[in-house]
Amino acid sequence: MKPQPALATTAIHAGEIHDPSGAHIAPIFQTSTFTFEDMAAVEAWSEGESGAYIYTRGGNPGRTALAAKLAALEGLGLESETTAEIFASGMAAITAALMGIARTGQHIVTQRVLYGSADHLISEVLPEFGITNSRVVALEPAGLNAELEEHPNTAAVYLETPANPTMTVIDIARTAEIAHEHGAMLVVDNTFATPVLQRPLQMGADVVVHSTTKYINGHGTMIGGAVISSDRTLMEEQIATMIRFTGGVPSPFDCWLANLGSKTLPLRMERHSASAMEVAGFLESHPGVVTTHYPGLPSHPQHELARVQMSGFGAMMAIDLGSYEAATRFLDRLELCTLAVSLGNIDTLVEHPASMTHRVVSPEDRAASGITDGLVRLSIGLEEAGDIIADLDQALREF
Ligand SMILES: *Cc1c(COP(=O)(O)O)cnc(C)c1O
Repeated sequence: MKPQPALATTAIHAGEIHDPSGAHIAPIFQTSTFTFEDMAAVEAWSEGESGAYIYTRGGNPGRTALAAKLAALEGLGLESETTAEIFASGMAAITAALMGIARTGQHIVTQRVLYGSADHLISEVLPEFGITNSRVVALEPAGLNAELEEHPNTAAVYLETPANPTMTVIDIARTAEIAHEHGAMLVVDNTFATPVLQRPLQMGADVVVHSTTKYINGHGTMIGGAVISSDRTLMEEQIATMIRFTGGVPSPFDCWLANLGSKTLPLRMERHSASAMEVAGFLESHPGVVTTHYPGLPSHPQHELARVQMSGFGAMMAIDLGSYEAATRFLDRLELCTLAVSLGNIDTLVEHPASMTHRVVSPEDRAASGITDGLVRLSIGLEEAGDIIADLDQALREF
């Protein structure tokens, strides 16, 4: 096998379009349809002899380029070929992955609390199509084994790690092993870690899903998603079909933006992680902060697992300030950091999960998963770490 280029090189060069007109950066193919030269070209296409683009719902060069790049990043180091399909949102990607894998009468097992909309999809929407679900708090091996024995019709185990917003780390390799022993596929939402810090396919996961809205684009300018796998049959027969016929396709411009953003992903993740480590150290030592949840801190319950499973700890963290009043006072005082949902942008975003991203989760499930009223989630940006800390410090005055 030819030696594979390193991650930073792959992010910049994989899948790039070398346009015949000589444009250095790939153009945006902002077109709904593509022309045929003549009827012979139509015949070649209908015989399956040409890979021509026909109509942008079916495919667009910029979408193909982004898919190739993300597949190369998630597939780095894998022997088998990895492919990707790009969607109009992370939720469209998650829906396609789960509806592509699970059929009516089948079951999905997940951790207790997921990204809010994924949670809603699995607990409220899929059951309407006869796809049931059950939860195991953090997919601990004994609990997961028991759950899978109780539900032999399980088609997929679905997980997020680090988990949103409490930063619980789940063992991907172990979960994949248990899922496979029971004939289920493992689907991992890799949005928080990105392929730069964690590559689930290498650890035995069957499918990776992403909200490219977050770190992959990185600049907060679009909404998008991806499904990535080296299971060719699944990708060709289920996922590609799902995008074509349910139609959750991204715009050519959004693909172009995500592609441009992803070129700096390795560089950004390195700086995001380094700054987050500094910020987490500051927050943990601040007397006004009750708990700091960050996988990079030795005090994090799964710190050792995070060290093995991830090549960096990322820039997502949560702090518990003890009460809703304290969280509100802190959030209202922030000047540099922005109060907003979403994450993975170049600037620092801070939010209150109980009233924002996890408002739809029942109070019982929030309590069971540590989403207290005093919990604040931070997505550490690329500003100078000292400036981020200074802003957090002034917001924590007299705490
Ligand atoms: C944002 C997000 C999603 C959903 O993605 P959209 O692009 O908003 O549809 C799914 N999972 C995680 C972990 C996310 O952060």
